[in-house]
Amino acid sequence: MEISGGCFCGAIGYESDLDDSWVGICHCRDCQILSGSAFRMSSMADFGTFRFTKGTPKYFDKRADSGSVRRLAFCGECGTHLCSLPSERDSKPAFVSIRLSTAREFPKLNPTAEIFCDSRVSWLEPMKGKAQFPRMPELDR
Ligand SMILES: [Zn+2]
Ligand SMILES: [Zn+2]
Repeated sequence: MEISGGCFCGAIGYESDLDDSWVGICHCRDCQILSGSAFRMSSMADFGTFRFTKGTPKYFDKRADSGSVRRLAFCGECGTHLCSLPSERDSKPAFVSIRLSTAREFPKLNPTAEIFCDSRVSWLEPMKGKAQFPRMPELDR
């Protein structure tokens, strides 16, 4: 599906095609810290379909458990995290992980899976009917 969104202050905007068959709830520590909450919702888009439509984000390069480097894009004015992108050095897999709370379509997006459940907060039960993964699942993309 086509989505669009942006940061809190409006300086950065984006559009993308989104694979809504995978809408993830991530319980990893990074998502807890960066979202200020118990989990963060993200979904993947093909890198080629994603584009910034307004402004230029700032980037922070983060090394994932897998060893690959992901570029975290955020607004330099208001600090909203928008997505992670493949780094220039490490372009595979070429997907964008969009922080879904920044999308206009966010209220319609229904989670399909929970990942990094190993670090789920103790007071939160697994959601009924959602696939459960202790860490990052192997995805065929
Ligand atoms: Zn902003
Ligand atoms: Zn996470």
